[in-house]
Amino acid sequence: MSASLATVSYIGATILFILSLGGLSNQQTALRGNLYGMVGMTIAVLATVFGPQVTAAGIPWIIGAMLIGAVIGLYAARTVQMTQMPELVALMHSMVGLAAMLVGVATFIDPTASFHWADGQGIPLTSAEESIHKIEIYIGILIGAVTFSGSIVAFGKLSGRIGGNPLLLPGRHWLNLVGLLVVIYFGREFVNAHTIADGMVPLIVMTVIALLFGIHMVMAIGGADMPVVVSMLNSYSGWAAAATGFMLSNDLLIVIGALVGSSGAILSYIMCKAMARSFISVIAGGFGTTSATPKPAGDAAQPAGEVTPISSVETAELLREAKSVVIVPGYGMAVAQAQHTVYEITKHLREKGVNVRFGIHPVAGRMPGHMNVLLAEAKVPYDIVFEMDELNDDFPKTDVVMVIGANDIVNPGAQDDPTSPIAGMPVLEVWKAKTSIVMKRSMASGYAGVDNPLFYKENNRMLFGDAKKMLDEVLIALKS
Ligand code: NDP
Repeated sequence: MSASLATVSYIGATILFILSLGGLSNQQTALRGNLYGMVGMTIAVLATVFGPQVTAAGIPWIIGAMLIGAVIGLYAARTVQMTQMPELVALMHSMVGLAAMLVGVATFIDPTASFHWADGQGIPLTSAEESIHKIEIYIGILIGAVTFSGSIVAFGKLSGRIGGNPLLLPGRHWLNLVGLLVVIYFGREFVNAHTIADGMVPLIVMTVIALLFGIHMVMAIGGADMPVVVSMLNSYSGWAAAATGFMLSNDLLIVIGALVGSSGAILSYIMCKAMARSFISVIAGGFGTTSATPKPAGDAAQPAGEVTPISSVETAELLREAKSVVIVPGYGMAVAQAQHTVYEITKHLREKGVNVRFGIHPVAGRMPGHMNVLLAEAKVPYDIVFEMDELNDDFPKTDVVMVIGANDIVNPGAQDDPTSPIAGMPVLEVWKAKTSIVMKRSMASGYAGVDNPLFYKENNRMLFGDAKKMLDEVLIALKS
């Protein structure tokens, strides 16, 4: 493929990626957005593999690597449970970081990388160009290493392999500052090094510090604040890809990396706002570390009052008599895979003239957009799915709220208890409805490990059991 055709393909792919992001911002256009992304990526891969930067001898290697990657990817996509998605995403971010590190080292030790290449002729880089090239490598490996180790720790935390408690080292901000100064000092050494051997030492020292920083940054984050970290690492992985683009002089990779990096940063900002956290303190790390230490998720919380259980038949009766119903799904709906039954119940109630709407909290579930994906999969119409802010004022006018496997996102303690680890996080004010029904299996706490005063409110009922099983029973009762 000629260089000009490759450039045109890259421009086409870039436009498709921008259209893809635009499409993904809205549920109605998300499918189209995905298609744009897939076509764009196909063009990008073909233009790169058959483009001028790859020699014929390299193609079998690339195809071999792609086949191995495709087999692993297909296997992962087929076997991963919906509830394990966030961990998988974290693991994928770590791969981007690892790739940036490996490309950085390979570029540094590649003897041909110190030349401009045109028509097979190598023209040595000027000393200014050489310095810029080395800075690209240094920063690329730095971002890659932070992304890699941070994402591995995020994977560990999300999958429960590492506890959710924040690790607070004494003087951690000073440690980070000293690490930063050492990284800057060795950056200078690296740029001034004349041989590969001389440059290797500062590179290795910086890589070790960056890896430790990534671990430290995510370890210091409290369990309840992990959503922001997930999207922040997404942003970092974008910047790592952009840095790789600079190292490989690949314009498309720079553009895509910048798109992912900036959209991830915007999402992090939105999540911060949704959780009433400060964006700056997230970037600085050590975020979400309140004095109260959250208990691990799923711990049996100490009952702080009496709860009123309800049966599935009684739940069906309440729903049947209601004029207006709001359904609040949470992580438990994903675990139980109850979304299809939720849809059936919604359909039935709507046919009977009940106004059914869904209230989605921005951090419901375990990844951004988790609930929207599940509801879309179950074909719940988009126009009855609302964001928290759109519904919160409507709860006093709502007859029944069904909370399905959600806990932290409906916890009034976030508003009333300043010592709560989730204090200040906006929540769905379901307790203001005439009746709220919470479906869960036990009195266990949610992700943040805190007790939920909602359960003990007078107008709240508890429908204990697996969400899918209980909703199946409710549906049968509704139809009978
Ligand atoms: P929570 O984790 O607060 O609560 C989920 C509840 O679901 C649990 O209390 C559990 O109770 C119940 N549950 C689990 N399995 C089932 C089942 N099979 N049937 C019925 N109920 C079940 O979830 P929320 O969605 O309310 O809140 C999300 C939390 O996750 C927030 O704290 C958020 O910060 C955090 N988070 C969010 C991320 C995101 O990007 N969205 C990323 C990482 C963390 P029981 O065991 O008694 O059944």
